[in-house]
Amino acid sequence: MASVYSIALALLVFCGAANAKPTATIQTAGDCKAYALATQRAMVQLKDVPRVRVIVVCSDVLWHRLQAKADAERTNTAFTNIREHLTVLRGSVTEDPIELRRVLAHEFDHIRCQCSLGE
Ligand SMILES: [Zn+2]
Repeated sequence: MASVYSIALALLVFCGAANAKPTATIQTAGDCKAYALATQRAMVQLKDVPRVRVIVVCSDVLWHRLQAKADAERTNTAFTNIREHLTVLRGSVTEDPIELRRVLAHEFDHIRCQCSLGE
């Protein structure tokens, strides 16, 4: 598996409380800063972002490899380890901002409820 490295995009998402801390981080698997920035933009627009680490997978080749490894082959867009608060996002999804927001909101629902959402 390719190394997953941070491009040090600390996402500042605050949830209103005076002592709120940033709750989300974005990393890339591969070199795709534009995808990471698009993900950051989408997450800032979402109302309620849970504590989460988002890995943006830069290439489809790596995406398919990670998907197989995670046994998550029913999705074309993203999958989430709810216990780890970890979402793995297919980078090319970020090219469609509306779809990107929909996908992130859905994955974050999994984290919030700590459940499969009946899937
Ligand atoms: Zn789902």
